[in-house]
Amino acid sequence: MTRVKTILSSAFAIGIAACTTQPTATETASFSPETTIGLLQTLSSDEMEGRGIGSEGSAKARAMIIDRLETLGIGPVGESFEYPFTYGPFRPPAEGEEPAPDKDAINVIAKIPGSSESDLAMVVTAHYDHVGIIDGEIYNGTDDNASGVVATLAIAEHFAANPPAYDVLLVFFDAEEDGFGGARDFIENPPVPLETMALNLNFDMVSRGDNGLLWASGTHHWPGLVPLVDDVAATAPVTLRRGFDTGNNRDDWTLLSDHRVFFQSGIPHIYFGVEDHPDYHTPRDDFELVDQDWFLGSVETLIMVAETMDEDLDEIFAMRQAALQD
Ligand SMILES: [Zn+2]
Repeated sequence: MTRVKTILSSAFAIGIAACTTQPTATETASFSPETTIGLLQTLSSDEMEGRGIGSEGSAKARAMIIDRLETLGIGPVGESFEYPFTYGPFRPPAEGEEPAPDKDAINVIAKIPGSSESDLAMVVTAHYDHVGIIDGEIYNGTDDNASGVVATLAIAEHFAANPPAYDVLLVFFDAEEDGFGGARDFIENPPVPLETMALNLNFDMVSRGDNGLLWASGTHHWPGLVPLVDDVAATAPVTLRRGFDTGNNRDDWTLLSDHRVFFQSGIPHIYFGVEDHPDYHTPRDDFELVDQDWFLGSVETLIMVAETMDEDLDEIFAMRQAALQD
């Protein structure tokens, strides 16, 4: 791990010049604020039972995501949007402890074909599961991570109206809250070859701008992405900062959400999220506590990021290939 970081950091100190000839994404971001807020409210309502893995609420959330994709005219990669999988425990059992049994869960994957001939893909990910019901209390997980799911659906809406140059995979992971089960299965059984994945954008907790900051984490490992992020930050409706990808423990988010599997596979990633707040992983992570204007700004910012990355995806892929050969 350490060695990989060093190689990646040294290979791309030069960076990719941000595109200046195209209109800014601010002018072209197209998504419905009302629909976006409505989806956030519904996906984190009590009816979804905290989207516990394998629960009825989880099935309802999945159906809602698929219904929205179909409404937008977006299809699956193959026959089905649903990718059922079985996953084992994340950590080995402690001495004398029985190994935990394998569990079943379901990822949802869709694809927006790019307008170019290229088979390169940008992989946009967000986990839709949360921790369910604990001691009779529903953990609605509005920020964690109904917000990332809804941001991904807004990107879907944007690209459905403004086709991307390169393929966009939209991946809604299950079982993030239980050892990144969905992400681990995705990397082991990818719907398209891993070799074609140029970039992962992972969204996890993007609605609670309590301090007004949205963070982009990961460019420490891929400095070539810095100019692209900064280009978006210059005109983004919310304050977008780079960080939390070096240092210790919870100051380094590199392994703390699903983007970790892309990082470990040598695929460039940027993770977007807010800092932990007092309602993180409590029954109070509710829709009512979200500043809706800030959330919509966050969503618009993430659309700008996706648009910017799509414009330069071939260069990002070249960066990945150069790192492999290093
Ligand atoms: Zn999360």
